[in-house]
Amino acid sequence: MLEWGEFGFRCGALGLGESLSDLPMFLNQLHGTYHSPRYLESDPLEFVHRYSDPWDQEAVGLIAALLAYGRVAQIRRSVSDALSRMETAAGTPSAFVRGLPARHAEAGWRTTFEGWTHRFNRGGDLEVLLLLLADSWREHGSLGARFTRDLAPTATDFGPALDSLIGEWRGKSKALRPHQPTGSFDYFLTAPSGGSCCKRWCMFLRWMGRKDEIDPGLWTENGVLQKTFSPGRFLSPKQLVIPIDTHTGRLSSYLGLTARRTLDWKAAREVTEALRTCNPSDPVMYDFSLARLGILEVCTRTYRAEICGDCPLLPACRFARNGALS
Ligand code: SF4
Repeated sequence: MLEWGEFGFRCGALGLGESLSDLPMFLNQLHGTYHSPRYLESDPLEFVHRYSDPWDQEAVGLIAALLAYGRVAQIRRSVSDALSRMETAAGTPSAFVRGLPARHAEAGWRTTFEGWTHRFNRGGDLEVLLLLLADSWREHGSLGARFTRDLAPTATDFGPALDSLIGEWRGKSKALRPHQPTGSFDYFLTAPSGGSCCKRWCMFLRWMGRKDEIDPGLWTENGVLQKTFSPGRFLSPKQLVIPIDTHTGRLSSYLGLTARRTLDWKAAREVTEALRTCNPSDPVMYDFSLARLGILEVCTRTYRAEICGDCPLLPACRFARNGALS
């Protein structure tokens, strides 16, 4: 887990709520600028937008989100390579996933992902992940139907439902592991109960649980995959938790949204609760725009008057305030 100290700035002395009353206005201005499809190419969500079939989108979303660690260029290469292999083998990502269990059981089966790597992960890891996805489709109709089965409509957030899915997948993956060349598969299966901020799962679930011009919202109340769910089940934007990473963590620190020094599940929930005071029905609405400030290197770890002076967050930013005074 990352420590705030890595950002060269700590917010331990900051009082939560000090500037939260005006924060919605500042965040809405930021949202108006950066929550736009023109910035999608700076995000792995871009891959999901290339497809229109909802099962393609669910499969591609899972792959793109869980591989979203490391450098952006490397992520793009790894996701593109994986999708290209799947399309060459079966036409579409969803056709590949549907046919995978039968092909996997054939004698002499050679993985489509032989030689594929992404930092800690190897092709066998990806194959096991897609076998688990195929299992969800076969048993439940979609991964969303499997996930929302354990998501109580009254749950404040999806933490318990994610724990349930990860627990099930850890168990099922053991039977598939003889085909796995490395021990890196578990890197896909982070769980809130283990303390991880689960950034990549939170990101995937934001894509599935919000619907606008950025997030596809396949699992929302009127989402296209919701017809595969049990009656009354869906993922509400209210139940999402912010995908906290070095960018959103640093900016949350600047805005005093959390005093925690570690980027863990508690920090993700604390930031989400602070954002809930700004937008009770959709607290992670600001995630994409906040992350753009870091990803696009608008907000660096240095106070720059010419940049900060134009930033909508300036009135609430303790880091800029400190920088301007020093
Ligand atoms: S005011 Fe400056 S330091 Fe603060 S969030 Fe904006 S760009 Fe970053």
